[in-house]
Formats: sequence, structure tokens, C-alpha cells
Amino acid sequence: MSPAGVIAVVGSINVDLIAQVARHPKPGETLHGRGGRMLPGGKGANQAVAAARRGGTVEMIGAVGTDAQAEVGLSGLRAAGVGLTGVREVEGPTGLAVVTVAEDGENTIVVIAGANGSVDAAQVRASRELLERAAIVVCQGEIPRAGIEALPELVRGRLLHNPAPVMELDPAVLRASDPLVVNEHEAALVLAQLAPGTDAPEQPAQMVDALRDAGITSVVLTMGARGSLVADADGQRRIPAAPVTAVDTTGAGDAFIGALAVGLAGGDSLPDAARLASRVGAFAATGQGAQPSYPGPEDALPPLARGEA
Ligand code: ADP
Repeated sequence: MSPAGVIAVVGSINVDLIAQVARHPKPGETLHGRGGRMLPGGKGANQAVAAARRGGTVEMIGAVGTDAQAEVGLSGLRAAGVGLTGVREVEGPTGLAVVTVAEDGENTIVVIAGANGSVDAAQVRASRELLERAAIVVCQGEIPRAGIEALPELVRGRLLHNPAPVMELDPAVLRASDPLVVNEHEAALVLAQLAPGTDAPEQPAQMVDALRDAGITSVVLTMGARGSLVADADGQRRIPAAPVTAVDTTGAGDAFIGALAVGLAGGDSLPDAARLASRVGAFAATGQGAQPSYPGPEDALPPLARGEA
């Protein structure tokens, strides 16, 4: 068997500051909270950690600030053995997400891009050699538009694009995704960009078909505990979820994507990679937080439900 290819993740590195509150404060109000821990986060870093924990050879391309938070943001990546030569240190703060979690489970999140805002076309091009040799390049929506739009000309392998949060992008860049990985909300927003003026179909399967008809080579639509849909030139399939008792689904989507990248880098078909990803995403939903909940090679993954179609 040939060795699996390198996975390059171009994306955000954040620190998550989490406060638990009985209820969310009203404007002008001060409340006591609990928690206050700083945890490594950011969609880019989460996906890189998930992929490395599942055995992928992973390189991160991104930026941290010159503050003390930078080491927190990098801690999970370091522990998972992710290569950091593509991570730059820039003057100013590291990306920060301030999360308040109320007793009813509802969250509010304020994200400060910080150093992630410097991952522009110039920084992406500075990692040209790494990007050109990667089998899979993974990106999300937490760096500037120009950084994402610089990728297609550099990627020789597959571009796994998770447009979260969705921003306005050159349609040609969206069409370079192979696969595009979206939830239902993101799928509708991407479709609106590719086929403006058309109503988004209500059924997820039709949404996937519409994205393919709009020129996306392959699509993975994740639907939480309802599993996912995958579609490429071989047709569309429903991949079941792995039934688990979910404790905290934060970062489960990122775990799914990291594992999907590992499968594809190892030469798996899209449905096979999605079957593994579904089990890894479910595992991540059974643990608290994002990166701490990701399975390593020693962890037994929950089996998929029956009923693939
Ligand atoms: P996002 O958080 O990006 O909207 P999803 O909620 O679709 O993503 O979750 C991504 C993946 O994580 C799912 O496709 C599934 O594999 C897994 N997952 C998430 N929540 C659950 C759950 N409650 N039970 C089982 N798997 C889950």
C-alpha cells in the first residue's frame, strides 16, 4: 500500500473562552458565571487535530498572535503532532471565541478573528510548496476571502471545502470544491450564490442534486444525528449516523471533516470516507468540548446504524 498523502489544513486557530451562565445577560447587565477555561479551538485547528488523531499526516497553515493565548491555541495541534511550519506569528491577538452557555443549552458566541484575519492570499502563497504536495487541502470560512480564493491555483490534489461560516466567494472557487462539505443551512446559502434567484429545494437529497447541477464535483451534506448524504459522479448515497447519546456536539462537524480528509488521503472512496467520518463525528458528540472529544487510534468507534441507501 502506498503511504497516505499529506493533509494541509488552511484555516483558523482560536482560543475558546467558555462561560457557563444561568441565563444570558441583558444589554447593560452583569451576571456571575462559571467556567472561564481557555481551550484550543477554531475550525481549522479542530479539523487538523481530528485528522492527526485518526492517523493523518497533517500540516497546518494559519496564524497566531504575539499574546500568551497563542500557546493555548497551538497546544492541541502540538499534542496531536500537526506540522506547524505553515503557521505564522503576527503582531496582535490570537483569534478568540467568547462563548456563553446558558442552562437551557442555548449558546451565544462572539468571534474575534485576530491573527486569523492575516491569512490572506500572500500568506497562503507563502505555503505554496506545502499546498502543491498535499493530497488533500482542507479549508473553512474563518479566514479572509482572499486566502480561500488563492487556493485553487495552488492545489494539485483535492480541495475539501467546508464553507462555514458561509461568505461571498468567487463561484469558480466554490466549484473547485471536491468535496464541498456543508450542513443544510450552509447548503442553502451556497446554492443561493451559485444559482441566484432559484428557490432552494426543501428536501436534502434535492439540495445535494441542485449543488451538483450547479457545478460542484462532489458534495457531502451533514445532517447531525440523521447522518449524511454524499454525491459524486457515481451518484448519491445516504450514509447513516452512528447512534450515540450526545453530550456536547460542539466540534462534531469538525471531527467529521478531519476524519473524512484522512479517508480521502488514504485513497478511500467518498462513501467509505464518509462512513468513517460519521463514526468519528458521533464519537466526538459523546465528549465535552471540541478537540478534547476527538478519538485517537486506541478509541473504539460507535458502529453505524443500518439503513444505508
Ligand atoms: P454541523 O455542526 O457542522 O452543523 P452536524 O450537526 O451535521 O454538523 O454534525 C456533523 C456530523 O457529526 C454528523 O454528520 C454526524 O456524523 C456527527 N454527529 C453530530 N451530532 C450527532 C449526534 N447527535 N449523533 C450522532 N452523530 C452526530
